[in-house]
Amino acid sequence: MKTKAAVLRALNSPLVVEEIDIDEPKVGEVRVKIEAVGFCHTDVHFMKGEVPGRLPMVLGHEGAGIVDAVGDGVTIVKPGDHVLMGMSSSCGRCVKCISGHPYWCEFASQPMLMGTQWDGTVRFHKGGEDIAHCFAQGCFSQYAITRDTGLAKIREDAPFDKICGLSCGLGTGLGAVLNNPRFTMPIGASLAVFGCGSVGLSVIMAAKLANAKNIVAIDMLDSKLDMATELGATLTINASEEPPVETTVGEIGQVDYAFECVGNPALVTQAFNITKGPGVVVIVGAAPMGVQFSLPQFNFITGKAVVGCSAGFMRPAVDFPRYIDLYMEGKLPLDKLVTHRFKLDDINDAVEALKSGEAIKSAIIPW
Ligand SMILES: [Zn+2]
Ligand SMILES: [Zn+2]
Repeated sequence: MKTKAAVLRALNSPLVVEEIDIDEPKVGEVRVKIEAVGFCHTDVHFMKGEVPGRLPMVLGHEGAGIVDAVGDGVTIVKPGDHVLMGMSSSCGRCVKCISGHPYWCEFASQPMLMGTQWDGTVRFHKGGEDIAHCFAQGCFSQYAITRDTGLAKIREDAPFDKICGLSCGLGTGLGAVLNNPRFTMPIGASLAVFGCGSVGLSVIMAAKLANAKNIVAIDMLDSKLDMATELGATLTINASEEPPVETTVGEIGQVDYAFECVGNPALVTQAFNITKGPGVVVIVGAAPMGVQFSLPQFNFITGKAVVGCSAGFMRPAVDFPRYIDLYMEGKLPLDKLVTHRFKLDDINDAVEALKSGEAIKSAIIPW
């Protein structure tokens, strides 16, 4: 069948909105009629070649919509169900999956990085040309296909455009705090958040929900710091104007946790410096592959730790329904982060809004 999609055909070029073909879902796959899809910084990384991808590719990995068709063996959803697609799926059978860590699935990286479905082939075509799937899905499209382990059935009263960002950016920030297998943040903790885009602001929302005492928000844009305050930050630092972060944070003492949400190695060092021992630095932001940092070895002996966070330790079927319930109960104001909406035809305007910092999270509406 036909679907209108935004295709990345060349690096550092606008996305091309065009009509392409999408196949029927194969074994274990679900085809979803996309009602809203979030625009993520990683999509821009693909456009710049900072994350390697196979071109041409349909970008987009924050899809929410209604199941259109299911392949053989799919039992967890049926046509008509409302679903949220996670940014990754899992095999469900490897040691990491069956031990409760599907976000570390041993086999997920292959389809994600190759831009295929799990059997190594694609479902998007145009003429004789194969078109790849961003993160094994490709949601900047009226219809997208994913493996059933990568999505969750959700309540039907949840507005698609407000919750789609949970698939990656917002879910990553929330999970870094609420779902972290490395620690359980105690009540009354202090933390700092470097970078107040959608991921960092979601860390702040989660920290407020976890009853943190001091929440320090650090960014270069006052507009984002204002939003951080609205969501629960107790101290804001404009890193482009104020004294060094170490000095300003030092006024409240060091923090228990620091979340680096930008993907900048210099900020990892700053985060390490303002974290007390035994505290934890959580690397949430994705740096281009190959980027390195160095830290003083001795400080690890005092108990400091540096851990990474992949996609908010997301288990779609477990986490999406509970995050959405919290939103619907007014405890998780996801809607404040969705600052812009664009039609699929205008998706390149969403790229610019994200690059300029004007948009925190844009929802793309394909219809
Ligand atoms: Zn697995
Ligand atoms: Zn993403």
